[in-house]
Amino acid sequence: MLSSETVQSIAGIVGPDNVLSDPYDLDRYSADALNPFRAFGAEDAFDKLADLVVRPSCTQEVADLVRLAAQNGIPVVPYGGGTGVMGGTIPVRGGIILDLQRMNHILSISATDLTAEVEPGVVLQDLIDALAEHGLMPGHDPYSVDIATVGGTISTNGVGYRAAAFGPMGNQVVALEAVLPDGRVMSTLPVPKYSSGPNLNHLFIGSEGVFGVITKATIQVFRLPEARVFDAVDFDDFDHGFEAAAELLALGIRPTLLDLSEEDGAVRMQLLFEGFKEGVAANHQRSIQVLTEMGGRPAGPEPTKAYWRVRHQSGQNYKRTSLGKPRKEKWQRRAGRNFDYLHMALPISKVLEYRRRCQEIMKGTGVRVTEFAIWSRPELYSMLVAPDEGAGEEFRENLAAVVEKVLTLSQDMGGTMEYCHGVGVKLNHLLAREMGVGHDVMRSIKQALDPANIMNPGKLGL
Ligand SMILES: Cc1cc2nc3c(=O)[nH]c(=O)nc-3n(C[C@H](O)[C@H](O)[C@H](O)COP(=O)(O)OP(=O)(O)OC[C@H]3O[C@@H](n4cnc5c(N)ncnc54)[C@H](O)[C@@H]3O)c2cc1C
Repeated sequence: MLSSETVQSIAGIVGPDNVLSDPYDLDRYSADALNPFRAFGAEDAFDKLADLVVRPSCTQEVADLVRLAAQNGIPVVPYGGGTGVMGGTIPVRGGIILDLQRMNHILSISATDLTAEVEPGVVLQDLIDALAEHGLMPGHDPYSVDIATVGGTISTNGVGYRAAAFGPMGNQVVALEAVLPDGRVMSTLPVPKYSSGPNLNHLFIGSEGVFGVITKATIQVFRLPEARVFDAVDFDDFDHGFEAAAELLALGIRPTLLDLSEEDGAVRMQLLFEGFKEGVAANHQRSIQVLTEMGGRPAGPEPTKAYWRVRHQSGQNYKRTSLGKPRKEKWQRRAGRNFDYLHMALPISKVLEYRRRCQEIMKGTGVRVTEFAIWSRPELYSMLVAPDEGAGEEFRENLAAVVEKVLTLSQDMGGTMEYCHGVGVKLNHLLAREMGVGHDVMRSIKQALDPANIMNPGKLGL
């Protein structure tokens, strides 16, 4: 509970219209897209609501708010599009939700520097539209493109459809401006490489707001492709498709889209090649040659074209049915979606053994994998897990146990429990296990920068 004096000071910074304290608003902002069904063991996180939602319009307002919060020991939770699926925006210790959606200006676009400088609340689709007018595009294209923001996607280091060529969102960060937990504003330089000290962008990439608030980002952008070729190749089994994907990577071929998935025993690799026309033709031709030599059967471009057209549908459905709704309404709407989506990364040499061991773990539990996938690189392995036929009342409990075993197995085999969505509240308990001494280092940095632990406290195990 904040004192009325503090609330008044906050209103003095952002204007009274940008301070929301209505229970309806506190409820709908105190969540993201994580449904309690999937928050195994972290259900308590949903007990707490924010005390206030504050909507700053510029860096100076963010800095003034954070300084005030630090002086008063008030937690601050940055909020972008609210599409995170791990509970990263849940205010587990109350305090202020800092809604960054008013900071949605595209400050500059340079076709020469191949960069765009933007505020953190810019929604990716708006950026796509603006860049297209300059013959450019961003490299990050997640399902949630219609809602997710630049600040949120950097803070989760998300992966999208073009990641096979451009990598995750974090790879596209050139420079950042961030408000530190004491209210100071720091900036990095808008150059792609320096050897004058470590690259401090990485303090904020994938950090879920625990080290500060990103208030500006310069990101790399790319020229719209001159040529575009879709294709698909079927395989008899996942292992052959996987080995073929690894061979493409080893050869140095980087399609824009590389998606290998197995559903109901059918294994298909979907591919998109983009770029200058001779490069596209050469990459496409050699890929199909390699894939067919390795047991693939060409399935033509149509399946991938169709897939590409509907790739943002789940995000659009979420926007239409759930975004900004009170929590219970959102959860009810998504009730019955009794699945979990797991995204692990392991060394290429471990993935197939890992897949086999996961199937062993699931035997007799009532949990089955409905989709196995490789997204963008062979190391990035995903499984959609759902109830098997005849799964009973105990399904959720079994699913929770299976998920824990599968995630820790990835860690034990030298991989990570999550490559795409962050840690949030859902995976908090497993992060120190994964990072080891690295987690102590991160804690020391946190203590130095944020001794009162006001920036998104309770996240990243801090
Ligand atoms: C239907 C659907 C489809 C999805 N598809 C994909 C997908 O294809 N690929 C993928 O990677 N993810 C996907 N996601 C997950 C989600 O879209 C991503 O995690 C996305 O990167 C979150 O962006 P956001 O702006 O919504 O961030 P939020 O959910 O608002 O925030 C995410 C985290 O970042 C922090 N944060 C937000 N803004 C800032 C800032 N300016 N400074 C510091 N910290 C900040 C928050 O505190 C929180 O911890 C999907 C989600 C849904 C609901």
